[in-house]
Amino acid sequence: MKFKANLAWVNGTWTPNVLLESDEHGLWSRIKLDATDIESEGALKLGCVLPGLVNAHSHAFQRAIAGLTEYSEQSGDDFWSWRDRMYRVALTIGPDHLESIATWLYSEMLKSGYTHVCEFHYLHRNPDGVEYADPSEMTWALVRAADKTGIGLTMLPTLYMNQGLGQSGLNSMQRRFASTPESILNLQQAVVRQAKSRSTQFSLNAGVAIHSLRAVAPTEIQSLTSHSGAAPVHIHIAEQSKEVADCIAHTGLRPVEWLLANANLDKRWNLVHATHTSVSEIQGIQAQQASVVICPTTEANLGDGFFDLPEALRQSLSWSIGTDSHVNRNWTEELRLLEYGARLSLRKRNVALLHKNGHGSTGQVLFEHALQGGTQAAGLPLAGISLGQRADLLEIDLESDSLLGVPSARLMDALIFSTPSNNFKSVFVAGQKIDRNSVQWKADFVKTMTEL
Ligand SMILES: [Zn+2]
Repeated sequence: MKFKANLAWVNGTWTPNVLLESDEHGLWSRIKLDATDIESEGALKLGCVLPGLVNAHSHAFQRAIAGLTEYSEQSGDDFWSWRDRMYRVALTIGPDHLESIATWLYSEMLKSGYTHVCEFHYLHRNPDGVEYADPSEMTWALVRAADKTGIGLTMLPTLYMNQGLGQSGLNSMQRRFASTPESILNLQQAVVRQAKSRSTQFSLNAGVAIHSLRAVAPTEIQSLTSHSGAAPVHIHIAEQSKEVADCIAHTGLRPVEWLLANANLDKRWNLVHATHTSVSEIQGIQAQQASVVICPTTEANLGDGFFDLPEALRQSLSWSIGTDSHVNRNWTEELRLLEYGARLSLRKRNVALLHKNGHGSTGQVLFEHALQGGTQAAGLPLAGISLGQRADLLEIDLESDSLLGVPSARLMDALIFSTPSNNFKSVFVAGQKIDRNSVQWKADFVKTMTEL
């Protein structure tokens, strides 16, 4: 495919008259700045384009309870009571339900500018806790949803073995999550074989995930990650202060401290949340080349706490963003809340610029970090408009309410910090235009919601 953009986000800045060509693998094969009209002949004409972003943390089934857990009949509602309600829904979802929920969710993500999703997937067994005839049954439901919508997918089959630190085995509410390092590696390999059989290998990938330190014993972490190859490894870590206290009580170390000392982190690793992380822990994550996945709207919804954004930026820590429980499906809102959380904590403005002595564009810093960190989370070439990276584009609607009259140099800031935002008029994944609307997908989702 050949595109000509009036304005494109290249190397972290807006650049005029950019000619772009993608190859048969859906990767950028030619990028020409200041292209002439003759060079641009035959190209699809686009206005203002951005690379797509990776949604680095998703549990698709939780989309079914977005908006339904804000009503309570008990005092002291917290992360743990939310988790019980989430488990009750998880026990009712079959493969067809999961496919329709994920299809609608992924179409929403594409509408709001995510072109790839990392699916942290632990709903492995049937509602009775028995393995499906094909152990990948629920995995394929997510792969089919991604295929229908056209979003790229990194599957992360997730190891879940224990109900808590020092409490081996699962409780009955967790029976669908039952897995072993071997069963997770089998799920990973099934997806890898599927990806290799495709002509475009860069839209599907499979790594592995460890649910959390409370759900997986140290020896099992080792046996999983020593056999999962170069693919991404994800883990929930240090999300809740109770989790930090429990980890100290059982191991004498904070969760990230424990990982740094025992898990042989490297650039495969993505630490999801890392909300309660000290300065020296951030140093350790950065030194071991691991990355962090921040999920600001879910962390706010669950009352987790604030990620230390200014310290992460000061130490050049790699990070990406995810929508986790899907109370929001829009990256501009995630980045805005990430910055606003830090502003409210510190009572300062433009906190993402503190490490640069306050100079520059806050939107530029936030977007570029999320873009580069997304590549590490997905394990695929998704680092923007650059040779060899996947040809994902978002065409911005300059007529949308939040961008009307904004000078081009400030468009990124306005995308993130001026709302309401419904800013993308077309989306491309691996060089192909995506059709983001289907009446059938919406009807299937509504039907599923009535059945759960
Ligand atoms: Zn999560």
